[in-house]
Amino acid sequence: MEASKHLKRYFRVQRNEMSALFKITEKIPVQFDPGMQLEEFKEIHKKGIVKYRKLREKLELEAIDALAHKNASDRLLLLTEIFLKHPKANPSLLDLKIAIMDRILENCDCCGWSCGVNGKTGEKGLCGLTDISNYASEFLHMREEPELIPTHSIFFTGYTFACVYCQN
Ligand code: SF4
Repeated sequence: MEASKHLKRYFRVQRNEMSALFKITEKIPVQFDPGMQLEEFKEIHKKGIVKYRKLREKLELEAIDALAHKNASDRLLLLTEIFLKHPKANPSLLDLKIAIMDRILENCDCCGWSCGVNGKTGEKGLCGLTDISNYASEFLHMREEPELIPTHSIFFTGYTFACVYCQN
């Protein structure tokens, strides 16, 4: 099947054979102070990403080795060990990403419109949103591409179809 060839990693995550990428960002330790400037956050982020890429590559190679084991319980044991070997960091690269996003919302540059509004004080840009996201629907999507069924879909509100940056 074409999808399994092109979405190898996706299917491995689905089968619990590899970590979802955000789970790897949780394992990368970074040091930052919430009061720092956005530029300082970004510098720390840049260094964190280098560590993240190295760890991701290492984890994936180890997972591929583990998957070569014929015995299913050996495979499961090895995959679990690989995942648990690197504990969650505190603060982590994921925490830094959240802090960056939170700061960007004060001068919104989240999409190509770069409105510069402060969503945290309730100001709205072209999308009509503040720093609070709302969803229109959440459901098990049974009409996606066959390989992706069932998909847990969450549709957020916003200015649907108002510009090229929206998918739907
Ligand atoms: S349209 Fe919305 S998300 Fe995009 S920059 Fe403006 S306020 Fe931010």
